[in-house]
Amino acid sequence: MDSDILTQLPDRLVAEAKSLDAGDPLAAYRDEFVLPEGVVAYLDGNSLGRPLATTRDRLAGFVDADWGERLIRSWDEQWMDLPLQLGDRIGRVTLGAAPGQTVVADSTTVLLYKLLRAALTARPGRTEIVADTENFPTDRYVVQGIAAELGLTVTWIGPNPAAGVTVEEVETAVSERTAVVLLSHVAYKSAYIADLPRITEVVHAAGALAMWDLCHSVGLLPIGLDDAGADLAVGCTYKYLNGGPGAPAFGYVATALQDKVTQPIQGWMGHAEPFTMGPSFRPSDGMRRFISGTPPVLGMLPMQDMLSLVERAGTDAIREKSIRLTEFVIDLADDTLAPLGVTVASPRDPVVRGGHVTLEHDAMQSVIAQLWQRGVIPDFRRPRGLRAGMSPLSTSFVEVATAVAHLRAILREHQ
Ligand SMILES: *Cc1c(COP(=O)(O)O)cnc(C)c1O
Repeated sequence: MDSDILTQLPDRLVAEAKSLDAGDPLAAYRDEFVLPEGVVAYLDGNSLGRPLATTRDRLAGFVDADWGERLIRSWDEQWMDLPLQLGDRIGRVTLGAAPGQTVVADSTTVLLYKLLRAALTARPGRTEIVADTENFPTDRYVVQGIAAELGLTVTWIGPNPAAGVTVEEVETAVSERTAVVLLSHVAYKSAYIADLPRITEVVHAAGALAMWDLCHSVGLLPIGLDDAGADLAVGCTYKYLNGGPGAPAFGYVATALQDKVTQPIQGWMGHAEPFTMGPSFRPSDGMRRFISGTPPVLGMLPMQDMLSLVERAGTDAIREKSIRLTEFVIDLADDTLAPLGVTVASPRDPVVRGGHVTLEHDAMQSVIAQLWQRGVIPDFRRPRGLRAGMSPLSTSFVEVATAVAHLRAILREHQ
């Protein structure tokens, strides 16, 4: 069936897909994922990464041994430290963060709230949060909620939706009133990569703190948080870190800031001595103070397998393949979909393009419903966007060509 559908594309592009796979140094990693036959092409690895086959054994082993046999003893033996150990590992493998600055906890939304509130306590007297109108809804809603709660104002940057927030826009927005600037590193719709180091610099020049949402960049490209001097960051682990649905988020707070801030949900697990069960709260040193309650240990298992894979492959090589993948989708789109009315709504310059490409067409919503029926799975972004997300370690070039071939076949029937 696959080879049939590929006749939708010019021979030249099919040959190119095959030769890109043949020359891909990361090609073998794909076989380490669970690849059911009913899924013809998966282009949603940026929303929910595929599971790794080793995750099956890890979960079964956990039930039998760590949980089943060691029972509550596992808290002392390993689970109490897991949020910090895993955080350090995420920091080392993906964030460019030295140990002691990253913790795994909560959901991204809850950590956004906790760290943004914490950031504000380090800038007393400053009354404004800067954010952007193209950021993911939860980021905007958390900002609105905190502003209402504390009586702060929000200055909204309105970036070009097909690109993203620029250094100049941030420079114009910040002032001596700004406490913190919250931005996404890679934009969830357009995939635009914000200039994290330069924007952090501009924010610091105004005396404010820079907080980064790394949901669409962690595991996809080298980030360099420490080098950039970023203050705080949060990110998802179920996207390019393949942690599975509802896997907990990670939060980063630069060492210099940690004991200068107070987070709003002080619970017993963030206490300096949780088991003294004392009368009042005293925050732990370091990142443990950002933990509120019992850590979600089960949700921290699958991401460990993907972190091993990312570490083996290296984020530089992953980024290189990611650029090739997005470049190839754009070539396919220009060649075979543009004549059918499809436009590219992501940056064409690979330097500022993350791991997905948004393709737009008026009929996209119903086209995507048909794609799903064929086992081709991208996602839909209102009002007319198909988001083709390509997780470099689990996506092949022929898989991408197959998806575009199906898209072309459906669009031709629409004509
Ligand atoms: C996916 C995503 C989230 C998701 O937050 P959850 O609390 O995990 O639902 C938040 N922010 C951005 C930028 C995202 O891309």
